[in-house]
Amino acid sequence: MYGRKVLRPYLLCFFLTMESSTANILDGKALAQRIQSELQQQIQQWQGSIGRPPGLAVVMVGDNPASAAYVRNKERSCQQVGMNSFGQHLPTNTTQSELEQLIHTLNLDDRVDGILLQLPLPEHLDSVSLLYQIAPDKDVDGLHPLNLGHLVRGEAGLRSCTPAGVMRLLEAYKIDLQGKRAVVVGRSILVGKPLALMLLEANATVTIAHSRSPDLPAITRSADVLITAVGRPKLITAEMVKPQAVVVDVGINRVTDETGKSRLVGDIDFESVAATAAFITPVPGGVGPMTVAMLLQNTVSSYAQRHQSVTKHP
Ligand code: NDP
Repeated sequence: MYGRKVLRPYLLCFFLTMESSTANILDGKALAQRIQSELQQQIQQWQGSIGRPPGLAVVMVGDNPASAAYVRNKERSCQQVGMNSFGQHLPTNTTQSELEQLIHTLNLDDRVDGILLQLPLPEHLDSVSLLYQIAPDKDVDGLHPLNLGHLVRGEAGLRSCTPAGVMRLLEAYKIDLQGKRAVVVGRSILVGKPLALMLLEANATVTIAHSRSPDLPAITRSADVLITAVGRPKLITAEMVKPQAVVVDVGINRVTDETGKSRLVGDIDFESVAATAAFITPVPGGVGPMTVAMLLQNTVSSYAQRHQSVTKHP
């Protein structure tokens, strides 16, 4: 009897989990690995003629542990594909003019194809003014107004890594966006706004929701493709999602469970939403790795652009 009592809830749990995981996983980790190995081959092919590999400079100020982890990850990925990484890790008390000088130096450095200013910066620094000073052709985060302007106009240019990663993931899984209702929750300049423009470019009918949008569930339930970039664990539950929707979770939140263990979750209540969605991204392993892959891709594009005599005629 004791055994059955222990087993029953366990079995129920097992079958519920089996039944509930109906959505296909949009596997950003696997796709990012594939992209990175293609980039690695491309770099090997070009660097003999160009005489150097692509170079990325990641500028980080202060010791924010989350930023430090992201930067380590980006630099490691750089090295894995055979790119040079020029890490610039500066103390918290770095001044605006010291950073301006550094960006100016990196703009002129021929070994550097991409410059990434890791955000957020300490409060005494004006990040917008610094982002404007990065040479647009080295702006691999796509946040310079010139590159954002190209996006608004639907022209070629360096695109923000996270939204570009989401689009690449949808494309890889052949998610048709034409005429579909896409809802983006979040309107930051880093994710929500550029992503909405990219979805529009792909001919989706786009709605952007944010903290002042009344009746969020009604908006999210209208989505064939729902993308959240908010930063609130379990903001989106199954009742807020249209059955068979495509669901992409950009959010990254660190939570502590009942046992005191900390882990990363997104904005979507994965277990319940996976039961009814057609496709869903996991966190971690969804959009995060795609962001890094797009950063490398942008740096290689910028390198190729600067050495067109070789890269246009392989
Ligand atoms: P921001 O804080 O800049 O923006 C959050 C957005 O969410 C805002 O537009 C805000 O609205 C909106 N929002 C907040 N609360 C609600 C709510 N209750 N209902 C609806 N909308 C709400 O964050 P980011 O865009 O920089 O990042 C969003 C999330 O994505 C974070 O978790 C971040 O860690 C993650 N992220 C993940 C990346 C990845 O590679 N996977 C890369 C970048 C970010 P309002 O504008 O009205 O305030």
